[in-house]
Amino acid sequence: MSRIYNFSAGPSVLPEKVLERAASELVEYGSSGQSVMEMSHRSPEYDAIIKECEALLRELMGIPDDYKVLMVQGGASTQFAAIPMNLMGEGGCADYFVTGEFSTRAAKEATKYGKVNEVASGKADNFSKLPDIAAAKLDPKASYVHICQNNTIYGTRFTTLPQTGDVPLVSDMSSCILSEPVDVSKFGLIYAGAQKNMAPAGLTVVIVKESLLGKALPFTPTMLDYSVMAKNDSMYNTPSTYPIYICKLVLEWIKNDIGGLEKMAERNRRKAKVLYDFLDGSKMFKATVSGPERSLMNVTFVTGNDELDAKFCKEAKAAGFYNLKGHRSVGGMRASIYNAMPEEGIAALVAFMKEFEKNN
Ligand SMILES: *Cc1c(COP(=O)(O)O)cnc(C)c1O
Repeated sequence: MSRIYNFSAGPSVLPEKVLERAASELVEYGSSGQSVMEMSHRSPEYDAIIKECEALLRELMGIPDDYKVLMVQGGASTQFAAIPMNLMGEGGCADYFVTGEFSTRAAKEATKYGKVNEVASGKADNFSKLPDIAAAKLDPKASYVHICQNNTIYGTRFTTLPQTGDVPLVSDMSSCILSEPVDVSKFGLIYAGAQKNMAPAGLTVVIVKESLLGKALPFTPTMLDYSVMAKNDSMYNTPSTYPIYICKLVLEWIKNDIGGLEKMAERNRRKAKVLYDFLDGSKMFKATVSGPERSLMNVTFVTGNDELDAKFCKEAKAAGFYNLKGHRSVGGMRASIYNAMPEEGIAALVAFMKEFEKNN
């Protein structure tokens, strides 16, 4: 077996140990006589899996008891609609920080359900840096404030949170959840598509403060109503059973092999530093984001020459470094170095880039 170094932005690399464990119990889980994929979601075996998954997530993230964990489907993009439907209220409004492609989409979707205030936008800088967070004029009557904490496509991240007072802060953490500790109590709602740092595609995690439930707009589809999902422990219908099982294995890996989120964060900072240090010293490659808002998960860079970028991506792929092409909307390159990317992967990439620079 030879595995590539996969720098995909999502779906993305999973810990090899998790894949091996899943493979070893693929056909028969424990002594259940069946695969997890074949199990009834209401069976005692599966019940133990989903409960353990939630318990581990609560433990690792320190989720307070007055928050519900919902395991739903439809990706983060479905939450762009579910959030306003559940939180905006009749005739309500919400504040959105527009810092990239996904927050643009989230804000646009929310306009279907209420008034959206775009309180700051990085569009004028093509989202290569965050707008001035502190200068944003927030509406104290807004139902919530929405941010995208890590901008997957542009490689920026929030390092300080907007001061929202009593207004709940809603955060899209799709591409940074579990990468470092967060104080969940600062948020009204956290959501993430699982396919970057948690599991394969098909699972979406919503962590929501209980006091925010029960205000869904009357036309909210049952499947998108957080109260329904909360009341039924994410089992109103069939949940995404296999991705939830893999998520449990990933959480066990973070807890037992890495040693928790503090350690995960240290490792992620080390990994990002190796890559950014190289980029800052290179004459050929240049990081597109500077300063503390550089993402620890998605490192974006360019050579300044489209042909050279293309040559780099092609030769990198031939050498076993996959998916380094930047998002179609920005070009250049992007190395997504999520939790599961091993430190050796970064070292090997930097060695390859040095060699490429020397030869070109
Ligand atoms: C990938 C991503 C999304 C979209 O997720 P889907 O699960 O594909 O809908 C939204 N927000 C962020 C920050 C992402 O990285």
